[in-house]
Formats: sequence, C-alpha cells, structure tokens
Amino acid sequence: MNSSIPTETKVVIVGGGVIGCSIAYHLTKLGWKDVVLLEQNQLGGGTSWHAAGLVGRLRTTNSMTRINKYSVELYSGLEKETGHSVGWKQVGSIIVGKSPERMTQLKRTAAMSERFDVEVQLVGPEVAQQKWPLLRIDDVLGAAWLPHDGKVIPKELAIALAKGAQSRGASIIENARVKDIQYQEGRVRGVVTEQGTIKAEYVVLAGGMWTRELGLRCGVTIPLYPVEHHYVVTETLPGAFDELPVGRDPDLCIYFRGEGNAVMLGAFQNFSKPWLVPKIPENFSFQLLEADWEKFSEPLKNGKHRIPALENARFAKFVNGPESFTPDNNFIMGEAFGLRNLFVAAGFNSVGIASAGGAGKYLAEWMIEGEPTLDLWSVDIRRFAPWSNNVRYLRERVAEVLGLHYQMAWPNREFETARGMLKSPLHERLAARGACFGVKNGWERPNWFARGGLKPMAEYSFGRQNWFQCHAAEHRAAREAVAIFDQTGFSKFVFKGRDVVSILQRLCGNNIDVPLGQAVYTGMFNARGGIESDLTVIRIAPTEFLIITGSSQTVRDFDWITRNVRTDERAELVDITRGLSVIGVMGPNSRSLLSRVSDADFSAPAFPFLASQVVGIGTATVRAVRITYVGELGWELQVPMDQAGLVYDTLMMAGEDLGISNAGHYAINSLRLEKGYRAWGAELSPDDTPLEAGLGFAVDWAKPFLGRDALARQKDAGLKRRLVIFVLQDPEPVLWGSEPIYRDGRPVGYTTSGSYGHSVGGAVGMGYVNHTEPFKDEFIKSGKFEINVSGRNYPAKAFLRAPYDPQRTRILQ
Ligand SMILES: Cc1cc2nc3c(=O)[nH]c(=O)nc-3n(C[C@H](O)[C@H](O)[C@H](O)COP(=O)(O)OP(=O)(O)OC[C@H]3O[C@@H](n4cnc5c(N)ncnc54)[C@H](O)[C@@H]3O)c2cc1C
Repeated sequence: MNSSIPTETKVVIVGGGVIGCSIAYHLTKLGWKDVVLLEQNQLGGGTSWHAAGLVGRLRTTNSMTRINKYSVELYSGLEKETGHSVGWKQVGSIIVGKSPERMTQLKRTAAMSERFDVEVQLVGPEVAQQKWPLLRIDDVLGAAWLPHDGKVIPKELAIALAKGAQSRGASIIENARVKDIQYQEGRVRGVVTEQGTIKAEYVVLAGGMWTRELGLRCGVTIPLYPVEHHYVVTETLPGAFDELPVGRDPDLCIYFRGEGNAVMLGAFQNFSKPWLVPKIPENFSFQLLEADWEKFSEPLKNGKHRIPALENARFAKFVNGPESFTPDNNFIMGEAFGLRNLFVAAGFNSVGIASAGGAGKYLAEWMIEGEPTLDLWSVDIRRFAPWSNNVRYLRERVAEVLGLHYQMAWPNREFETARGMLKSPLHERLAARGACFGVKNGWERPNWFARGGLKPMAEYSFGRQNWFQCHAAEHRAAREAVAIFDQTGFSKFVFKGRDVVSILQRLCGNNIDVPLGQAVYTGMFNARGGIESDLTVIRIAPTEFLIITGSSQTVRDFDWITRNVRTDERAELVDITRGLSVIGVMGPNSRSLLSRVSDADFSAPAFPFLASQVVGIGTATVRAVRITYVGELGWELQVPMDQAGLVYDTLMMAGEDLGISNAGHYAINSLRLEKGYRAWGAELSPDDTPLEAGLGFAVDWAKPFLGRDALARQKDAGLKRRLVIFVLQDPEPVLWGSEPIYRDGRPVGYTTSGSYGHSVGGAVGMGYVNHTEPFKDEFIKSGKFEINVSGRNYPAKAFLRAPYDPQRTRILQ
C-alpha cells in the first residue's frame, strides 16, 4: 500500500476497515479517482479482521436487503477482479425455530422475502439436519433455508476492496492517524495527520468504533459505542467441514458454522457487555479483549444442546472482539448535519461484513449525487440528535442492542434500556392514568392506557396483544366522544425572516402564501419528486411560520430546510421542539369541551378547518389549530411546556360528562389508517412521490417548487404504483406492516403500516401496489386482493379512498 501523505485531494477516507475500503472502492469505480484512505494502523486490523464473516442477504427492509444483496454479488466476483481471494463461499444459511412464535416469525420472513427477491425455503427439521448433520433436531419445529447466503474472510475482504480502489488511482496509506478534522464556514476542509495536513473537499469518517470520537472533534453527533461480541472455535471436530452452512438458532441466541474441520460457535446474548474504556486505544489493532468464559457459559451450554458433538470438544480460540453498536441497531450513514461534505459510515452493529459492499456503493453514490439514491432513512445519520451522544446513555442502550439480532421481532417491540430520555410535561399525569409508554426519537409517548385492571405492560404477540380492548376503547372515544392525545414529541420549528415565503414556496408542494393564521398541509420533495417530509405549515405573521413535522424527523427536516436556503436569502429556522407541548383534542365532542374552558368561539364559521388562533384554555394561553390526524373534528393545542399540565388538567376536569378519554399512539395509528392518512417513514419516503401516495390534492401545480418537473413527468407518463388501503374481511387477524399483498394470487407489494380498525371491524393497513403498466383505478377495483398474515392469505378489500368516512363532513363542519 502507498505511504506518502499528499497535501491535497478530493476525498479523504478515515479508516481502513471493510467499510472505508468499500467506500474507496466504489468512489473510484464511479469515477472519483482522487481518493486517499488513511488507516491509523493496518488495513482490517480494527474490528473487521476478527469478524465471523457471515454474509446474509435478507434484512428487514427492502433498502437494507438491497444493500446486502449487492454485497453478495460483489464478493462473489471480487477475487476475479482484484486477484485477491476473499474466501467467498456460498454455503447457504439455515435458521432453526423451536417455538411456535419463532415459526410464525420465520413464516413472516419467508413471505416477505419473496417481495425482496431473496429465496427462502421453509423446511422441516430433517432437512435442517441434512444441511447441518451435527444438529440436534428433537426440539426443532422447522427451519428457514437461505441457499444464497455465504461467508467471507473479512480481513481479506478489506484488502481486496483496497486493492480494487488502488488499481483505479486511490492512495491507501497505513500507519497514518487522523488527529483532527478541519472545517470552516460549515464545510469540511481537510484532516490533520501525524505526518501533515491534507486539504480535502470531502472527508468520510469510517473509523469503526473510533468514529464517535472523530465526530466530537468537529461537532458531529455519531452515537455509537463498542460492545464485546464473543465466539469460540473448536479444535478439529469429527463431522465438521468448512462448507457447512451458517447456522442460527435465535431462540438459543447462538450462531455456528464450519471453520475448516472445526466448528465456530458465536453468541448474540440478550444482554451484552459494553467495553468500559475511558477512550478506545489508538493502537488497538489485531487485538482482542480477554476471553470471558463466564459470560459465554450460557451460549456454550446452548451450543452443546444444539450440536451435541460440542460436548467433548476442545476449544482452540476464544474471540472477544469489541465492535460498535448504535442506539437503534441500525448503522449510521450520510452527510453530517451542519457540516457539509463530511460523510459518515460507521456503527455497523454486527452486520458490517455483510453490508460493507452495499453500504460503500450507496454512500459513494450519495456523495457523488449529493443525495441518497435509495431510501436510506433507517440508517441516516440525521435520525440522531445531540442528546443521544451521551456516553452513559449509549452504554446502557447498546447492552440491549447486540442481542436484538436474535430476539423475536415482535410487532411494536419497545426498548427496555435507557428510557426516559425526553419526557413530556404530562408524563407523570399520564403514567398515573395507566399510560403504557413507547419511545420515539427519545420521546416517551403513551402507546395505550391500561383499563379494566390490566397492568400498563405490553405482552407481545403476532396476533392481538393484551392491550387490544384498551385500544378499542380509546379508538371509539375519539370517534364517538372526545379523546386527549399527548403529541408533544412532534418536531416544531419557527421559520422567519425576509425571504421565508419564497423559500417555503420553493420547498413545499402546496401553496403556503396563505392568510395569517392559516395552516397548510404540504410535502417537501427532492429533485426526483420523492417525499423528503410531510408537514403542517402555519402562517403566524407575515414573514413567520410555525412548522410541525413528525417526531423522528427533527434533525432531518431542519437539515433539509436549511441546506436548501441560498446564501443570498435571509431567513432563520429555530428548533422549538423542546419548548412546546402539543395536546390533541379530538372527537365529535371536542368543540363542546373547548367551548367550556375557553372564551374563544370554536364554531365552524369562527374557527374553520385549517384555521389557527391564539386562545385561552382556562388560565393558560395556547395556539389552537383546527386540524386532525385521526379524521375527526378536533384541534391541536400548541402549549408552552410550562403550561401543558395546566391545560391538560383543565380539559380533563371539564370533559368528564362528555366521555373524555386519554388515548395513545396506537389509537392514532388505527384512526388515521381508517381515514387514509399517510405517515412519513411508513407510506411516505424519498422513494415515494405524492402522486403514488395519493397526495396530489396537496400539490399546487400553479407554482414552481423543488421536484415539480419530475412529478410533472410522472403525471404524464402515468403511475406504476399506487398506495392502497386494505381492510381484511376476516375480523380476527391483525396487520402490523410488512405483510405481502397479492392481487389475483400474484405478489404486488407489501404493507407499509397496519393496525386494527375498530370502526371498520377488521385489520386495516396500507401498502403500495405495483403494476407493470400505468395504473387505472380499475386495476384496484377489479382485482381480488389478499394479504399474507403469518403465512396465511386473507381476503382483503382494497380502497383508494378512506375505508371509514361516514362523517367526512363532520371534520369540516
Ligand atoms: C466477534 C465479531 C464477529 C462478527 N461477525 C460478523 C459477521 O459474521 N458478519 C458481519 O457482517 N459482521 C460481523 N461483525 C461485525 C463487523 O466486524 C463490523 O461491523 C465491521 O468490521 C465494521 O467495519 P468498520 O470498517 O466499520 O470498522 P473497523 O474494521 O474497526 O475499521 C475502522 C478502522 O478505522 C481506523 N481508524 C479509526 N480512527 C482512525 C483515525 N483517527 N485515523 C485513521 N484510522 C482510524 C481503525 O484503526 C480501523 O482499522 C462481527 C464483529 C465481531 C466483533
């Protein structure tokens, strides 16, 4: 590899693990040759070298599966291209299940894999044993066989990728530590190394577990923390051979594969050990942590159960390797918020080898195109706000994260650790009334309220969970009386200044140049017409707007708006999320309730739909906005945090005889699905356009806006996918999202959201239906639709409009 440090380049990549090397490989492949990769020690010596080398293709989302599928494609041809063997073997993988719930999960996985074009066969225990002859199967109920998975030798993978990059002009420099990142006026300018400074247009931080520290040096939030990950390798074991498939027994939290004539046994235990170091040593290269047989005793016991031949095995190796984990088990990619041209690819949560190929490709495309080329929101760096970078928070959370790989993927599973980060001022009041909380972007939000003697603790299952009746009561309260929702987690911004109207007109699809006090529902789109955000914009002064967006999008939306303000434009965006509480008052009795506690006139003529006014609620002063996400008459009250308790108490006291009820986010979900309201992050993403999503009504074609040309082209060409709402005809099953959709027996899409619609009397979901030709409504009306729930197809009624809308006029009255 090269050795001399240049003074200037286009791109500096910090870190020579599989990820940094893959980024160098792909940047050069896409034509950016002026690339310098700096590795503080030797290539692959950080976390990559000791990885188990498992490469699976199937992930939980389409985008992540595309990343891994591409990796497999790349690795299988890399030796031919670079002349360096990466030890790729397509040995396949087998996942065994020993509980009915696990079998249900495997069936759901197999059903989804068809949509992602990944072959998964559900097989019986005997077939599992044929694939892995040393397996004990007397307690195995079945298995999933993935014939195209495989394994690589991770260190060789890093070297092969580096060689590929080098052959196209990249400089790969070892023993070159980056001490500092240089930046000026919000843009990265280069790096400082021990051997000198390199000016660079772009810097990529791919420093594995060291990346958080690198981020701190330039003010970028990269929340990741190392956790110990353990596997052992036996001495030669009769019956073991290198081509054995990768085996997984998630119920026992173990994985295993052949390693020459021995067996490798690894663990994803429910709770793991963060590496408690004050600072990760810089020279930690080709090193391991001390063997921890005590912590490994349970996986070893489980391993001996599943592979009885291990009972008498001797162990040649104990690998205790630290690797970085993130708070949500997804890796971190993309351009840093607030520092242009500083890109990050780190925190790979035990899937860095399997994901390196695709992650490198899509990050390189992101850099070159200036935006992601597929929906990468689940791994986007902008999902993390600075509060999440606290070390104690990270240590607490990552202990839970490693084990998630093998835990049941229960619908609505909530994290158990590091809770209570961001709390609404109503938190204690709601807890006292039986709230069962979930967490979204750090915010504790009531999911549902316990009643009828139930404890506010969710019991997970793929069917109706224990809160089903509580949810039904909350849902009905919003439809038939009045429900109070704590929606404080919403992201909120004030946007003001001389040019604010023209900027928002340019960014928003809808016309926001409206009279004072009016709210507008709109999307913001990228140049491809994809939906970057959907938001409510309220004009509160001639050159001042209040912007409300989803809870998870605070950093992302702030970034999107500010990066699209030109340097000659004058406008200031202020994040007021943590200063303002939002209380939803929803339902047919909401008007009566608000009229009791306020002197304002809430009648339809005085307070029409989409109007907003500053009103008194009891002795507090709030902004009320006549808007609804549940499809009922209602107002969202924007209340200063310090008066939220006062407002809540006033409402609850006044509403008793109006049937007032607390309601949680599960009720919001079912209510909005019945009414056909879309959610960003589920139905709406940068890969979906407003036309496909059925949001054409919120686009004002009479004005120019970002993405308009692409949308106009799509309008002319016709749509090949449309968002459709489904209601299952059997009232029993529940939809959770990610269920395959069939039309006349052929797979056409999968659900993006699901819930139980208590007003329609059945499970309700949404999903995009794909078609080979431009869509006509007839395609939906004439089709016989079914949705696969846990391996069984259920007939579903398809709707292009809300399935529940008897009182549409009531929202507007
Ligand atoms: C025991 C174990 C088993 C695993 N098994 C698998 C598996 O089977 N499949 C799978 O997909 N994943 C697996 N993983 C995870 C995988 O190893 C990681 O996700 C992956 O290696 C991360 O690669 P990386 O390039 O981000 O990090 P690294 O390999 O750590 O590379 C980062 C590099 O950056 C360098 N660096 C840091 N700071 C600087 C600086 N200031 N200047 C210059 N260089 C710097 C470091 O020296 C390091 O070499 C496993 C991990 C462990 C611990």
